Amino acid sequence: MSRYRTILIFGAPGSGKGTQGKILGKIPGFYHFACGDVFRSLDPTSELGAQFLEYSSKGELVPDEMTVRLWHESIRMTVESGKFKPERDHLILDGIPRNVAQAVLMETHIEVRRVFHLSCPDRDKLVARLKKRALRDNRLDDANEEVIRNRLGTYDSESKPMLSHYSSVKRHDIDASMTPLEVLHKVLEGLLEETSAESSTLTPR
Ligand code: AMP
Repeated sequence: MSRYRTILIFGAPGSGKGTQGKILGKIPGFYHFACGDVFRSLDPTSELGAQFLEYSSKGELVPDEMTVRLWHESIRMTVESGKFKPERDHLILDGIPRNVAQAVLMETHIEVRRVFHLSCPDRDKLVARLKKRALRDNRLDDANEEVIRNRLGTYDSESKPMLSHYSSVKRHDIDASMTPLEVLHKVLEGLLEETSAESSTLTPR
């Protein structure tokens, strides 16, 4: 089995991964998968749904094995249903892998082609965005400042080390404090580079 051609959207909570991922997922040739959205769609009375609530309400990550299993099962279903066509589409991953252990577990399934790192050193800006989102989307994990700070701490200690794990992959560091349109512009530049590099390797000279 060949691995899924994958683009990672990486960044702290509130950096705009979901905003960008949703837009990119509308473009033919790309399939957007947001791990947090899949967790939120689970029945909260199911075992996994209850685990998600327990961890996310504290600003912690759900354990790696169950997260990667959920990802793998969901992706398998989207392939079966024809929503994601690996031979045609790039997979845009948003919120997964979230640490090095997940990246290692997923290695047999994904070939990471590019990393878009939405970077925002201004933590207060992220906190303000998350508080706004809590009201708009009714998200429990964004409602409480202590949980938000915990989520940002988890990002620094567990997720950021992934950048060195993917040090051999082409990375685009993008200033996440720009407007969504400006960020999108930068992401599209990188994606065009990726898709044209790919078609030039496929086109016989
Ligand atoms: P998000 O919507 O990506 O901010 O995710 C919300 C919450 O879902 C996180 O704070 C975690 O508790 C959980 N979550 C989402 N993605 C992952 C992941 N890849 N690994 C572990 N937990 C995750």
